Amino acid sequence: MLDAIETKKIKENTAAGVQVCDVTIGGTETVVIAGPCSVENRDQIMSTAASVKESGARILRGGAYKPRTSPRSFQGLGEKGLKLLKDAGKSNALPIVSEVMSEDDVELVADYVDMIQIGARNMQNFALLKKIGQTRKPVLLKRGPAATIKEWLSAADYIRDGGNDQIVLCERGIRGFDPYLRYTIDLGAVAWIKANTDFPVIVDPSHATGIRELVSPVAKAGIAVGADGVIVEVHPKPADALSDAEQQLNFEEFNGMIAEIESPLPSIA
Ligand code: PEP
Ligand code: MN
Repeated sequence: MLDAIETKKIKENTAAGVQVCDVTIGGTETVVIAGPCSVENRDQIMSTAASVKESGARILRGGAYKPRTSPRSFQGLGEKGLKLLKDAGKSNALPIVSEVMSEDDVELVADYVDMIQIGARNMQNFALLKKIGQTRKPVLLKRGPAATIKEWLSAADYIRDGGNDQIVLCERGIRGFDPYLRYTIDLGAVAWIKANTDFPVIVDPSHATGIRELVSPVAKAGIAVGADGVIVEVHPKPADALSDAEQQLNFEEFNGMIAEIESPLPSIA
């Protein structure tokens, strides 16, 4: 656990909000980032972008370089996927975020996206973190599935030491013992980050649960403990998705989720 002096240093050294084009993460707004797990084709990303925008999403997500457990699973469209994501973002006035997995691709990905994602599996890829630190793009730093809070913050330090302090943390679940959910979301960590640092922090209920029906309730829970936003996977036909089919919401479900998270908490009386 970080002691009080270390914690204070984190607060002093970190910007209060991170600006992604016209969107501030860590300001007054709860920012919703949405889009497919993977960019698959033009129709898929275009229709998803238009629909999530209409529902209220502020940033478009979509994977082009996919960290798949098996090398025989769909690996993403690479640069072609980035081009499609950029077109979809532009057509719908949405900033875009996408993952980079290799330090060799950082400049290429940074050329396309408005925010660079470091995936959970690469949270301690120190060469990648250092390279990202040299860019001036906002960064979405996901928590490693087995990382302590201190290790997560140290990963952020690698990026900051390069001169890039535009970092948003993302709690996406850690490895627990229960196989019913994909991961175990650590909402205490979200509250801890808010209480002890100035980093904006968002939650990813899609990867954390792996179960479509749990995305909306867990998104609400994340916001209740102070998350500055959520990142949610949305696909026109989740059952046909080339990755993470079980956890993606269709357009109607995503629209319903937005209504849910906007609705006030039930009164206690
Ligand atoms: C993703 O957001 O596309 C992703 C692969 O998530 P994570 O790194 O959290 O598993
Ligand atoms: Mn996914």
